Amino acid sequence: MIRLGLVGYPLEHSLSPALHHAALQQCGLQGEYLLYPVHPADSATLYSLVDRVRDREIQGLNVTIPHKRVIMGLLDELTTAAKAIGAVNTVYHKDGKAVGHNTDFAGFRNDLLRWLPIVRSAIVLGAGGAARAVVYALGMIGCPVRVASRRMASALELEAQFPNVRATALDPQELSGIAADLLVNATPAGMLPNVDTCAWPTKLSLPAGAAVYDLVYNPAETRLIKQARAAGLRATNGLGMLIEQAALSFELWTGCQPPRQHLMDAIAQKAV
Ligand code: NAP
Repeated sequence: MIRLGLVGYPLEHSLSPALHHAALQQCGLQGEYLLYPVHPADSATLYSLVDRVRDREIQGLNVTIPHKRVIMGLLDELTTAAKAIGAVNTVYHKDGKAVGHNTDFAGFRNDLLRWLPIVRSAIVLGAGGAARAVVYALGMIGCPVRVASRRMASALELEAQFPNVRATALDPQELSGIAADLLVNATPAGMLPNVDTCAWPTKLSLPAGAAVYDLVYNPAETRLIKQARAAGLRATNGLGMLIEQAALSFELWTGCQPPRQHLMDAIAQKAV
């Protein structure tokens, strides 16, 4: 019996149980994937969940907002990726220790490269946790990135940490002169219920020839994706990344590789 789960707050709309139950079924494994809604002030429960991974009572945990950074201080070991990104989305057991990892970067990279095998330059909108995973992934494939953030200080933090990053203001004048073959939205703009918002400046044309990857997947076609398609550009949402990061966590916990298409089918009805 494999015990898995997700810790975060709130958790009502998570697609993770559907993904991981499909993965368990496809791999022929008996198990459960439970939701652990833990209030941000309840560090004792967070600690006890980590302890249960250490004791192998729980084989694996996913971690989401607001615990992705806080949990780092409770773990025995962090992988290189978790340290570089500064966030943990996966906890697993190794030799009596609870280890923190981040599968968001490889989830993004694997899904991106299936869709766009060669990327020479990118613009990333946003400078939060997801943007950090994205620039780390792009750094691994040797891609220079302009990070455009509405708060310049957070873009400059990424510039100071990641050698492939240059900070840029999220400003039409700054952005109009930048060429890129990939534009990534790593902000929540466009996500339900704020479907009319878009991080790319209104009235500014999208970079010529760029492929647009929106990390938001709810709705499936965001305002940015619509704008890109209307301009004749290729565009995709973050569903593939969501599935890939889940599959990579599952592989770490169980050693089994769930078929991605089956995971996609399991949530196709649930993702709007
Ligand atoms: P986060 O840490 O809160 O960072 C959000 C970033 O977006 C910040 O830089 C923020 O700027 C900026 N931002 C917020 N609203 C904006 C707006 N209207 N216009 C311009 N910039 C805006 O969030 P996160 O964890 O990085 O997540 C970002 C998005 O990625 C979320 O929608 C999340 O669901 C999605 N995501 C998807 C996947 C996937 O698997 N597909 C994985 C991870 C995350 P300020 O600092 O100025 O507020």
